[in-house]
Amino acid sequence: MTDHTDMTTDLPSDPSRRRLFKYSAAAAGVAVAVGAGSWIKKRIEGIPVAGDYPVPVDDAVLKPFNQRNWIFAQAGSKKNWADFPERDQAFAKLIGENWSFRDGLKKIFSAGTPQTWIENKPGYTQLDWALGLAAQRPLDVLGKAAKYGQPNAPGMMSWEQKNLMENQWQFESKQQAAQYIKRAAKLFGADRCGITYNDHRFNYDPMYDIMRDQEISWDGLGFKPKTVIVLLHEMDYDAIRTAPSLPSIGTVNKAYVDMAVQAGQLADFIRRLGYKAVASHNDMINKVAYGMKAGLGEAARNGALVAPGLGPRVRISAVITELDFVEYDVPRRFGIQEFCEHCKLCADACPGKAITHDDKPSFTPTFEGADDPALNWHGHKGIYKFHNDAKKCFKFWADNGIGCAQCIKTCPWNKPDFWHHRIIDASNTFTGGEIHSFMREMDSLFGYGNMEIEKANLLFWNKEV
Ligand code: SF4
Ligand code: SF4
Repeated sequence: MTDHTDMTTDLPSDPSRRRLFKYSAAAAGVAVAVGAGSWIKKRIEGIPVAGDYPVPVDDAVLKPFNQRNWIFAQAGSKKNWADFPERDQAFAKLIGENWSFRDGLKKIFSAGTPQTWIENKPGYTQLDWALGLAAQRPLDVLGKAAKYGQPNAPGMMSWEQKNLMENQWQFESKQQAAQYIKRAAKLFGADRCGITYNDHRFNYDPMYDIMRDQEISWDGLGFKPKTVIVLLHEMDYDAIRTAPSLPSIGTVNKAYVDMAVQAGQLADFIRRLGYKAVASHNDMINKVAYGMKAGLGEAARNGALVAPGLGPRVRISAVITELDFVEYDVPRRFGIQEFCEHCKLCADACPGKAITHDDKPSFTPTFEGADDPALNWHGHKGIYKFHNDAKKCFKFWADNGIGCAQCIKTCPWNKPDFWHHRIIDASNTFTGGEIHSFMREMDSLFGYGNMEIEKANLLFWNKEV
């Protein structure tokens, strides 16, 4: 876990803002004094909702997502280049540049030889590139291609049922099974764990292997997937604050390693109990949807799962297993989608202009060109959410030479685990639009999500260790 106890660097420098901070803290302190603790805990745990999904879905539209339509599949699959040339042409016309997804991916991959990308500016020096890329080094052996969505990637995400015991361990109750699985996940390092059942609507089908240019069927799994165990992996607050520069990518890459290691360990644990299981990385399923189904958070405007207490500063992995004698978590609402309706900070800050400014979520995309099949081929449709333009996000990644975490940095829910922030989080489940707009302004005033890259990098590298 990240150490967020040193808050001195977050204190605003302007005296009036400092006073405001003190008044806020004092007011929050009084609230605590009158016994708000249990109320906060209850609010942060969310409000359980009936039904199998916490937000509406359009059954006529919602189908398993064809992974061939994932942005990385379009960028990396020769078969996609040949079959869908109109996607490159339409996008190049939209942005007014001679551009293809294939070239975009080449730029991102060329970050592996960063001499071409090193610049003498904060966050992009040799020091920063070294950190950002070294952080993902273990993935070379743990399952490199899983990061790019390859199902059954060699390594920790292999579907081979290694160490599967013949004898099946019998739990005394479903509650005990859930408790022991979550205990094991915690031991392996996961920050949150939720358990839900397999719902094919939220799976990738067909899956797509961009390395071998072929569709992958769920039959190849070799067992009937019944349960999905969802794990959250926290990213470093100070590193994310440097986004979109390299230290932020360092913590993203470190979390990709955590995903492979911890989901891989949990899958191995379940196989050793005698039940078939596989670890899932950026492959196989819509992880934000499963995070919601497992009661861990809510999909936000920035497309991420916002988990109370951690915000969008998490990566998600999963274990898919045949074991179904286990208590499932219920979906919960935390008031995040409603907060997003009035916030829009991430949309304002997105350097790729990829995040929608829509006032309300919708079942299908509304971005520019949404009525053109050559521009509207990606993204999971039929879920009531904010639909963003992943093509434009990918374009910025290519321009940046690496990924981007600006929309995580900007989000007001991305706060250190400090008590006065948790009071504010808790109040969001029942306060209305005016209050949310006010909170958005306060967040910017305190300088949380809009710190300039140079200052954020100085704070990151010089943080007391
Ligand atoms: S990752 Fe960066 S470019 Fe992509 S949506 Fe987020 S802020 Fe925009
Ligand atoms: S920045 Fe605001 S609008 Fe964007 S995800 Fe966070 S709360 Fe929602």
